[in-house]
Amino acid sequence: MIWNRTKECMDREQMRALQSERLRKTVDRVYHNSPFYRDKMQSLGLTPDDIQSIDDIVKLPFTTKDDLRDNYPYGLFAVPISQIVRLHASSGTTGLPTVVGYTRKDLSIWSEMIARCLSAYGTSEADIFSVAYGYGLFTGGLGMHYGVEKLGATVIPMSTGNTSKQIQLLRDFGATSMACTPSYALYLAESIENAGLSVDDFKLKRGIFGAEPWTENMRKEIEAKLNIDAYNIYGLSEIMGPGVSHECECKNGSHIIEDHFIPEIVDPITKLPLPYGEKGELVFTTITKEGMPLLRYNTKDLCYLIDEPCPCGRTNIRMSSIYGRSDDMLIIRGVNVFPTQIESIILEMQELEAHYMIIVDRVNNLDVFEVQVEVKAEYFSDEMSKMVGIKKKIAQKIHSVLGLNPTIKLVEPRTLERSEGKAKHVIDNRKL
Ligand code: ADP
Ligand code: ZN
Repeated sequence: MIWNRTKECMDREQMRALQSERLRKTVDRVYHNSPFYRDKMQSLGLTPDDIQSIDDIVKLPFTTKDDLRDNYPYGLFAVPISQIVRLHASSGTTGLPTVVGYTRKDLSIWSEMIARCLSAYGTSEADIFSVAYGYGLFTGGLGMHYGVEKLGATVIPMSTGNTSKQIQLLRDFGATSMACTPSYALYLAESIENAGLSVDDFKLKRGIFGAEPWTENMRKEIEAKLNIDAYNIYGLSEIMGPGVSHECECKNGSHIIEDHFIPEIVDPITKLPLPYGEKGELVFTTITKEGMPLLRYNTKDLCYLIDEPCPCGRTNIRMSSIYGRSDDMLIIRGVNVFPTQIESIILEMQELEAHYMIIVDRVNNLDVFEVQVEVKAEYFSDEMSKMVGIKKKIAQKIHSVLGLNPTIKLVEPRTLERSEGKAKHVIDNRKL
């Protein structure tokens, strides 16, 4: 079913006109309500009058995750905090989270976006839907939750973890749909098997997966193991959260909610716009957001745009799946991890050298990672308890910043490989 035919199947010319009008309003609003954007525009010699249509978008300044970090926590909000009704946050580069704020209208648009996505997957009021994304600061849980309610299906606010309980409730409650990360879906499939259960004990028909990259092979595996249809959902907290784009029954690219976000692809080096079909960095401009509107936010996600008509009837253009990132951000168990976060923890500790290696892998379909770090000669000891103490300290610090539990391996000074060029700090063994 198409939830919002007017917006999802709009004639392309009409869509451009709508985007142009909303872009003009957004630029006007941020110029007058956001000192951050006024400064940025003034330094480029721009006034709102310079932006008349979507073609002028290329004149506007880019926004990056660093801008959000530098203006922590509320510096990019374009309304007084009294109008913000919800905050979300995701991990940032220095341990400071990236904070996003929503007005009541923003939240209502977000729910409607997700209702559109869910309809495109064939979900309806009749469905029982388990949301197995994390509830809390992460946008996944609550974002999906209110979308499912908007659609009118029955929501099970399951959140993450507690796999045996998840399995029990999926079965006992007769869940027909669920949302989680694709790697968790595989883990779940395996756990169902290990528990001696069969997928025939379940009523699951479809799964909605996102928050991390996945491949066609993973889709096939999930579909076969759980006997469901698996669909992609894409999003990021800076722009809204999950639901910025979604697949339809064609499973061939994700339709972007274009009446709320204007997508562009830019060259990773020159930052110049690239035509449809060419791979580059995905950039979004929000055109209806009130709480935290962003101009040309560079997601650093690498993909391309597809403007060929889709057999499903939607005219909103599609994005390909994400095949990488142009920065060094890792996504481990759905958590954004920058190697610099781990580096700064290591540098803070006098016992450690500044040499480290992060090794990421996937075991039983779950991400695991190990941090190897050199201990300074004067601290290196044969005494087990001393070494264990250092390990614990590192593990606790990493947990408090990222909420993840890596294995820590201490090594003797000068044992990690030194590189001659740019230091290599990450080995990612996950086959994606
Ligand atoms: P969210 O809360 O929506 O996961 P975050 O801001 O924590 O948002 O992370 C967003 C990033 O997660 C995106 O920029 C992208 O790199 C990754 N991501 C989200 N959904 C997908 C998806 N379906 N496919 C690939 N990567 C995704
Ligand atoms: Zn389609």
